[in-house]
Amino acid sequence: TTASGRLPRWLKRPVPKGNVNHLTSELLEELRLETVCENAKCPNRMECYSQQTATFMILGNVCTRPCGFCAVHRGRPPQLPEADEPQRVAEAAARLGLKHVVITSVTRDDLPDGGADHFYQCILAVRERTGASVEVLTPDFVQCKDALARVVEAEPEVFNHNMETVSRLYRRVRGPKSDYSWTLEMLRRVREMNPAVRTKSGLMLGLGEQRDELLDALADLRSHNVDFLTLGQYLQPGDKYLPVVRYVPPEEFEELGEIAKQMGFKKVASGPFVRSSYHARDMAETD
Ligand code: SF4
Ligand code: SF4
Repeated sequence: TTASGRLPRWLKRPVPKGNVNHLTSELLEELRLETVCENAKCPNRMECYSQQTATFMILGNVCTRPCGFCAVHRGRPPQLPEADEPQRVAEAAARLGLKHVVITSVTRDDLPDGGADHFYQCILAVRERTGASVEVLTPDFVQCKDALARVVEAEPEVFNHNMETVSRLYRRVRGPKSDYSWTLEMLRRVREMNPAVRTKSGLMLGLGEQRDELLDALADLRSHNVDFLTLGQYLQPGDKYLPVVRYVPPEEFEELGEIAKQMGFKKVASGPFVRSSYHARDMAETD
């Protein structure tokens, strides 16, 4: 079964139009950068920008994975990592006056290190140039597990890797290369390699997960020392993507958020509009 095409009332919210602040398309064009915020026309832009937070996408916009929920173009990425991209991200962050910079990427199974060294360079460049805290939202490095250490070496304030969904739905939602237990192991290793780095993960609700499956997933994240959690509503980006099975009401998000806090997550964001970088700065500052 799937939910009907009509959005429930709590998901109807005006989308900010045009330049909601100083994050201009001119600047992004000039520096040849993309942000998830603008690309996905994220409804949270107003709030995030006012908290001086934005999410940059590095390593191109072609992905080697086929996740059924994601509208990013898939195929063979045409380019190697661009050597000047770390400086361009740092430049944009500086000019925008960002205090918390989230850096994410497509999955680059075509690169021997999955792009880990490029993440490293970007973290260092942003920190040196701006002093902002840095959060990475990385791919799973499942093809090159040792490369994970390179990202951790740069000591991002927050290391985020999204679980996205429960164990039973993993391959259906995240594709055949995804691996539920590696997601957990990866997050555990980050904390083990450097206990000062906070770990974070998130799930999209409404893909057909059962409540007990969800609670199991949250318990698994906690038993692998994950610090921060985001829970948001899955929205179908177009007809060919996975259908929404259920729109989870705001009260239920609230309740699940409370349960998660009781399970020991240090900070939880749970609500229909929550995305993994939503209120990222607040979350990063908790300790
Ligand atoms: Fe950007 Fe993430 Fe905030 Fe959306 S939630 S505006 S993608 S930082
Ligand atoms: Fe989208 Fe990331 Fe999946 Fe690639 S790996 S399809 S960018 S969610």
